[in-house]
Amino acid sequence: MSDLTTNIETLNGHLARFRTGGILNLINGESRPAASGATFETSSPVDESVICSVAKCSADDIGAAAQAAKSAFPAWRDTPALERKKILHRIADLIVERAEEIALCECWDTGQALRFMSKAALRGAENFRFFADKATSARDGQQLQSPTLMNVTTRVPIGPVGVITPWNTPFMLSTWKIAPALAAGCTVVHKPAEFSPLTARILAEIAHEAGLPPGVWNLVNGFGEEAGKALTEHPDIKTIAFVGESKTGSMIMKQGADTLKRVHFELGGKNPVVVFDDADLDRALDAAIFMIYSLNGERCTSSSRLLVQESIAKEFEAKLIERVNNIKVGHPLDPTTEVGPLIHKVHFDKVTSYFETAKQDGASIAAGGTRVGDQGWFVRPTLFTNATNDMTIAQEEIFGPVLTSIRFKDEDEALSLANDTQYGLTGYVWTNDITRALRFTNQLEAGMIWVNSENVRHLPTPFGGVKSSGIGRDGGDWSFEFYMEQKHIGFALGHHKIPRLGA
Ligand code: NAD
Repeated sequence: MSDLTTNIETLNGHLARFRTGGILNLINGESRPAASGATFETSSPVDESVICSVAKCSADDIGAAAQAAKSAFPAWRDTPALERKKILHRIADLIVERAEEIALCECWDTGQALRFMSKAALRGAENFRFFADKATSARDGQQLQSPTLMNVTTRVPIGPVGVITPWNTPFMLSTWKIAPALAAGCTVVHKPAEFSPLTARILAEIAHEAGLPPGVWNLVNGFGEEAGKALTEHPDIKTIAFVGESKTGSMIMKQGADTLKRVHFELGGKNPVVVFDDADLDRALDAAIFMIYSLNGERCTSSSRLLVQESIAKEFEAKLIERVNNIKVGHPLDPTTEVGPLIHKVHFDKVTSYFETAKQDGASIAAGGTRVGDQGWFVRPTLFTNATNDMTIAQEEIFGPVLTSIRFKDEDEALSLANDTQYGLTGYVWTNDITRALRFTNQLEAGMIWVNSENVRHLPTPFGGVKSSGIGRDGGDWSFEFYMEQKHIGFALGHHKIPRLGA
């Protein structure tokens, strides 16, 4: 990885065209400003400087994008799966070719550290390859014979889909949602988060360049309450795949009610990492630190609640404090940086407000709890100790590099604390007692659990949460279940008796 100065120079080269032309929508294969001509500015969390202007869509633009996706749908649905597979692989190839540009732009736009983002671009390519290879089996079904009928099932793509993504790791998350939709044969209208529009534009350009027909992938920019809302209400959009906050998910469900939208929600979390005294404590420490302080803690699967057994808590927390104080906060394009700035002032204000809340609740700030510098949205990685699970800092999703440590006596208490939250996205359990691990994970309320491991994503496995953390699953065939309709066809095997009315 190059040094900071070289990375900044390279980034400036990539940004030049955005600085002159702004970020446009991509509708029906054409780059377009918003119909009204409205724009908004996106700025970097590193130094608060304006990056460029962005098209600000209203319902008219969403209508045009939905129309394009609707018109393109029949031809894309009927494109041979092998052809779809080839195009998706080409998209992956082009992502790899432009991985450096994507990573640098993502860091500048979001504040995420390059050491993580360079891999995120490549993981985006992997998402396309994985679903490219699955495209040929998307329509597969079952044969369920009865005495009188040969029943077969097949899946058909549902139609144009709306994809709404958040600002944390926006590139990777966009690929995760869009690749299976295209592999299934759906067309897409994508609205990325207003705080981080850069790499969504690069991704849509790549798809276009890879030979995706006009209208199959449309990009619309703008704010959630205007552009996002219009997308969720549009009658030609059959489903909404949404990644974001739980309260936004709830709004989307209401907005989509009139048009009976199918929804897939990947929402917030307040995920426990449970450390028992029989665990490999060095590995547990590494994993707990990684899962909350990587990606600036702006990570839905972050282990934001540490539940640590009383017998080892003092020693474990002491080691934790030492390591947290040592985490390198800095410019996201510096390859040695571990934590960059938070996405935006709005989010910085939210995260830092919990420093006061912690004190009011009676917890201690054992590390961090301060801003770094006076420009950009940098905070020191923070650790709250002497906390209890009923405190606000243990219940609300802070979504920053902030960990709350809570002590427990025994397994029963650990389980009840772990489950005492509105969320249920992930859980991490550290113990060398296999029977306890089986018992505990069986009762832990979470969509995804790792035992003696940090979160390691494997694309064929289901990704998603329970309770307020989501509805539905991504990954493997589960993605197709969402983007496709099941169809049953029964063929009579002979002349079975048909009831005769009015005969
Ligand atoms: P957010 O909910 O504020 O915004 C997400 C997207 O929704 C943005 O594109 C926004 O413009 C849009 N939006 C906002 N209001 C809307 C409305 N009324 N109708 C339609 N669209 C609307 O979320 P965020 O702050 O960008 O992202 C952080 C959140 O995302 C956290 O809660 C995090 O846990 C969650 N997240 C979850 C997962 C997961 O897989 N479970 C992954 C990443 C992030």
